[in-house]
Amino acid sequence: MGKAKAKPVVWIEEGCIGCGLCAHYCPTVFQLNAVTDESRVRGAARCDGVTDGNAYRRSPLVEGLPATVREEVGEVIADCPMHTVRMSG
Ligand code: SF4
Repeated sequence: MGKAKAKPVVWIEEGCIGCGLCAHYCPTVFQLNAVTDESRVRGAARCDGVTDGNAYRRSPLVEGLPATVREEVGEVIADCPMHTVRMSG
């Protein structure tokens, strides 16, 4: 029996400048907070349903997201001007 594959976890470190690139590339996972302009990981995309930076909770992404999400998050990680987006798993 194979080892269970870890679910990816996406989070945002301190330092986001709210440029909006992540929400543009991957709106399934990211949205900008309308008040602070900082990026957040959408509750609808997370197992805990909470919308925040996910830096402390580290809630994994839910099953059933579009297959392109991992690739999109990878592009966001490469292109975020502040290097504040992380993904593990
Ligand atoms: S791409 Fe980076 S700096 Fe821009 S809004 Fe997203 S997390 Fe913030």
